[in-house]
Amino acid sequence: MAEIDLVIRNVRLVSQQITGETDGEITSAAGNPINDNEVNRWDIAVAGEKIVEIRSTVSQCAENEIDGTGLTAFPGLIDSHVHLNDPGRDHWEGGRTGSSALAAGGVTCFADMPLNSSPPTLTADAFDAKCKRLSETSRIDFALWGGLTPQNIDHMDELAERGVIGFKAFMCPSGIEDFCHADDLTLLRGMERAAKLKLPVAVHAENAALTGALSADFSKSGRTDAEAFFESRPVVAELEAIQRAILYARETGCALHIVHVSSAQGIAMVRDAVHRQGIDVTCETCPHYLMFTAADAARIGPAAKCAPPLRSEMEREELLTALKRGQIDLVGSDHSPSPAGMKMGKSFVDAWGGIAGAQMTLRALLTLGVSEAQVLDLMGMSPATRFALARKGRLAPGYDADIVLVNPGAPERPVTKIELCDRHRTSAWIGVKLRGSIEFVFRRGELIRQGSIWCNDSCGRFVKSFVGEST
Ligand SMILES: [Zn+2]
Repeated sequence: MAEIDLVIRNVRLVSQQITGETDGEITSAAGNPINDNEVNRWDIAVAGEKIVEIRSTVSQCAENEIDGTGLTAFPGLIDSHVHLNDPGRDHWEGGRTGSSALAAGGVTCFADMPLNSSPPTLTADAFDAKCKRLSETSRIDFALWGGLTPQNIDHMDELAERGVIGFKAFMCPSGIEDFCHADDLTLLRGMERAAKLKLPVAVHAENAALTGALSADFSKSGRTDAEAFFESRPVVAELEAIQRAILYARETGCALHIVHVSSAQGIAMVRDAVHRQGIDVTCETCPHYLMFTAADAARIGPAAKCAPPLRSEMEREELLTALKRGQIDLVGSDHSPSPAGMKMGKSFVDAWGGIAGAQMTLRALLTLGVSEAQVLDLMGMSPATRFALARKGRLAPGYDADIVLVNPGAPERPVTKIELCDRHRTSAWIGVKLRGSIEFVFRRGELIRQGSIWCNDSCGRFVKSFVGEST
């Protein structure tokens, strides 16, 4: 037995994670959840950066011992959809501030989207610049998305060599001038290339022609209010784009991931493609679609503007039901902040679209009544598997000691501006009552945050997709 550096004692483990253990101490076999009536107190032993044992009692003592009585241990969450805008637009967010917000919310690994940094992640050189910058600023581990635009299909191979987890494409304008949207031929060719590279393509699915024409109509009539924005991006525009992307995935054999689905009808299309057509497609939604409605957005203002937009109460309820029925593969925050000046004092239509919510996901899901076992899957095993992140997303021997200790029973309290760790603290979430509290955050065995206190200033590191790695 290796020297143990840390033991976390007496924590509750979410039942689903007691799987695949070979050690006789853990009685539940793979796939058999522990009965709630059974004693559920475990010790987790860590050596260096790895979990080495999970037992009812770890007999060996360590220099660092934490008593986790009353707390639930989750694997550090994986947020596969964030925009930190660094390098080049760190006045919008930044590697340090953005990763701090994520860590404060229980995330220990994130995947950064390719578009808001400058340069955007479209070439190996741009990838290297971002990787260097985040290695020097991020508190937690990070993976990177490459972009897919009409300009960079020839650079997809070099991005794959660098270890991107996939390629992100926009089916409508992205809002960033140097990240062009993928026209149909670009999407088709890019998906052919991605299929050869065995990497997924993630799409922002909204029909550009429909949303463009509707926006132009409202603009002509002088409408800049919230309802004009919602009506310019109807559900049907999203559904048409999802259907087309699925068709291209079937044609090319490319693994497809639909980001931020806002309607249960879109989820149903994905499930149908998987089950009836055997297409390799997954989908995600974001906490804001599960928590807020269009009426909330009209009341809150541009801090609650995003695309696709927040929907009706009926859509919100149906989406949450689909999530609880296990029809949604994973959840990402789509943390997409901007300087306050791009949001405040502007009309809803003219304001920057994007909701800052990096810190909320875990507590939001618990507040919405999503089970702990499902949270574990949606932000642990599911993104780790889909995006080929080795040794992440589970609490098990051999895995990275990314561990978050949560008090799920901490009573609901409103989110305050002061507790937010992102750069601008302009968020639709301020004032929303969320339950649970995040008490300890370990990144590969190192305690980085306890309560609201940072324990050190160390940085995380780049995590490469293991697709294409020779094993
Ligand atoms: Zn996004």
